[in-house]
Amino acid sequence: MQTRVLKVNPKNPSLSQIRQASKIIRSGGTVAFPTETVYGLGANALDSKAVKKIFDAKGRPADNPLIIHISDVADLGILSNNIPKTAFDLMEDFWPGPLTIVLKKSKIVPKITTGGLDTVAIRIPKNKIALELIRYSGTPIAAPSANVAGRPSPTRAQHVIDDLSGKTSMILDGGPTKIGIESTVIDLSRKTPMLLRPGGVTLEQLQKVLGKIAIHPIIHGKKTKTIHRSPGMKYRHYSPRAKIILIEGQKAIVNKKISQLLQSYKKQGLRVGILGTNIKSDMTITQGSQEKIAANLFRSFREFDAEKIDIILARGTSRKGLGLGIMNRLRKASYRKIIV
Ligand code: AMP
Ligand code: MG
Repeated sequence: MQTRVLKVNPKNPSLSQIRQASKIIRSGGTVAFPTETVYGLGANALDSKAVKKIFDAKGRPADNPLIIHISDVADLGILSNNIPKTAFDLMEDFWPGPLTIVLKKSKIVPKITTGGLDTVAIRIPKNKIALELIRYSGTPIAAPSANVAGRPSPTRAQHVIDDLSGKTSMILDGGPTKIGIESTVIDLSRKTPMLLRPGGVTLEQLQKVLGKIAIHPIIHGKKTKTIHRSPGMKYRHYSPRAKIILIEGQKAIVNKKISQLLQSYKKQGLRVGILGTNIKSDMTITQGSQEKIAANLFRSFREFDAEKIDIILARGTSRKGLGLGIMNRLRKASYRKIIV
């Protein structure tokens, strides 16, 4: 398959480009597009054959459900007949934006889209290109992150080209994404709302609206025998080719541990990258504000790979605010965790 890459103005997408892309969606093909979180690989959410193309292109396990993107709250009623008041409270505060709401699904949503579940995950993204594409396609668009399954999510069009060239009909290049980690996922299909994935909207923000929120044990890294409410969470994710070792604890002690590990890996002749602290190595990427860490996290993973780094020594960050989402990604991407 030939992949067409279109450079699109994110502030004012051209109508002709949006028309070309929406034509592909309407005829059952796939288009990669930017959202405010990461790039997504989209297809008509209500067309099983089109959705299958997403799973095939990514090599995504069939039980890992997709998020459905809509452009208007009015489209919600097509996807679910069971919308609690709390959902409207959340939509009012956080849509369009990086919050995905899980509800009981309606019959019209094919099982392939929800990975076999009887619930459906929905959000309105805050990105003009995404919104126009959905509007002109005239259908909700299912879109997981536009990376090969297991790899870091793409935050630039080039990442999508690297992973999916030849596997999607079109890539809309709207520049770097703002937030850099995926949306927060909250399950409202149960009595007490449950946080399934931390992300762009923080737990603290959600608690202000909802009060009590259950937190899926897997977010804290616990192994769980309970049914996976969010099956995607059980897979290793976001991983660069380099092995990440995540080191958590008090800053000074963590830095000492990183220096020790750096020396011992260098002795073994390995190329070592450092993430989150300014110790000099083959490649060092330091930390800024939480917003900056999130925005650059997945790009850093891919840059370490481009520099043929073997081991990444990453310093953990606080779990407050956006930190919960950042640490969740770091932990899932890492192959070993050390607490000092
Ligand atoms: P991605 O867009 O690649 O980040 O993947 C979407 C993620 O959203 C999945 O891995 C799940 O964690 C979550 N998700 C999607 N649909 C559902 C659902 N019906 N129930 C629970 N979680 C979901
Ligand atoms: Mg993903």
